[in-house]
Amino acid sequence: MSFERREALLPFVPYRYRPDRKPPYLRPWMVPQALWGRNLRALLAKEDWDHIRKDAYARAGSRCRVCGGRGPKWPVEADEGWHYDDTTRVQTLKGVIALCPDCHAVRHWGKTMSAGKQDEALAWMMDVNGWTRAEAQKCADNAMRQWHERSAHNDWRCDISWALTQYGVTPVKGGESVAQERNQSFVQKAHEQYGHQNSTVSYVQHLFFER
Ligand SMILES: [Zn+2]
Repeated sequence: MSFERREALLPFVPYRYRPDRKPPYLRPWMVPQALWGRNLRALLAKEDWDHIRKDAYARAGSRCRVCGGRGPKWPVEADEGWHYDDTTRVQTLKGVIALCPDCHAVRHWGKTMSAGKQDEALAWMMDVNGWTRAEAQKCADNAMRQWHERSAHNDWRCDISWALTQYGVTPVKGGESVAQERNQSFVQKAHEQYGHQNSTVSYVQHLFFER
């Protein structure tokens, strides 16, 4: 295969197999608590969100962008790629990509842990990145620590202009309050499951050491 042709195919190659990418191909990328529920599903009309996520699936041939795999019940799910600015505390949407359920579960590490599926997710992170258990655990611990630091702030803002310019959609009326309601409900559920996080240390210990 010619060099040019191989270059042209690169955007379609899952990250795991791309020569220009290095591990980690996959790591937890948790949403700070203040931003839970504040996503395109809440902020856009259902048909607009459906269009954006189905476009992500189509661009990826309904295969995972990270590992190239497909889930057994449904092939892929939509993952919003957020950038976090820890100084201005703005969460900015950079794109929406297709991920298989296994890779998606690693990204949403906290949700996966609360479902008791962290062992499977850790094993998958090891497999995809070619890591030892200790390396994967360290990455997960760091993600958890970062989530705690970010979740200590309540003034995070969310910028979805990528979706608005890319797809010419506008936020739905009342989306902000839907997002707010979902946030409160998620936070309440987390508190019921783990208790209030007055002590960050004990919260992390609970999650990691008292399974
Ligand atoms: Zn995958």
